[in-house]
Amino acid sequence: MWRVQMEQMGEQTEPAMPIVFVDAKDGSSNLRYDDLQHVALKGDDQEAWDMKGGTRYSSAVLADSADATANDAYVHAGLSLDDFAVAHNRDSFEGGGAVVKNYAHHERGYVNAFWNGGVLSYGDADGARSGPLVIPDIVAHELSHGVIDCIADLVYANESGALHEATSEIFAAAIEAAQPGATADDIWHIGEDCWNASPGYRRDMADPVSTGDHDYSLTRDTSTSDSGGVHWNSGIASLFFRLL
Ligand SMILES: [Zn+2]
Repeated sequence: MWRVQMEQMGEQTEPAMPIVFVDAKDGSSNLRYDDLQHVALKGDDQEAWDMKGGTRYSSAVLADSADATANDAYVHAGLSLDDFAVAHNRDSFEGGGAVVKNYAHHERGYVNAFWNGGVLSYGDADGARSGPLVIPDIVAHELSHGVIDCIADLVYANESGALHEATSEIFAAAIEAAQPGATADDIWHIGEDCWNASPGYRRDMADPVSTGDHDYSLTRDTSTSDSGGVHWNSGIASLFFRLL
């Protein structure tokens, strides 16, 4: 019996390291396996977890580095952490180097992402309206909620909630602006890298009304929906920042 180790590398194929046991007499093979050891997405400053389409954090497993969606969350949270460190001399969201935990594949078909007060969670979306919400500005937006929670006492409802939302948008815009080659659309559109539905982005800080949001305090949403219009009214402060 011969043990043959092969390597499969290439741009068109998934990397693999097949181990094949071959009968030395007749060349037949009845045992083969892939010996590629995937590295879990775990570093000193952040981790990426796989929710496997569920909602229970206790059932999540450390994501595999071959998981492109979890990898995007990890990389893009890293971009945001780097920017907070460079631009604001801030180590992680609470300023003391806390490990940032990214939970990818949250709930099957979930078209959103959120900060829950401790960790980041990202849906895979449905592929039609949107792709996975692990793109740079959405990850930056959600991580920024964690920063804002730690530095400001903004109740997440009504006008203070809209300021919470707008400040997250402003941090996300600043983080995207710091990336090489960033265009005005990259910076002021939110969600343009995953949003398929018209108009191709989720919000526009330069023109909030174009996505049905508000840009003027006297015409703001005053209902109790959306926690008192926290997203819909965020356009007022977002546009204010855009016009500075
Ligand atoms: Zn938000």
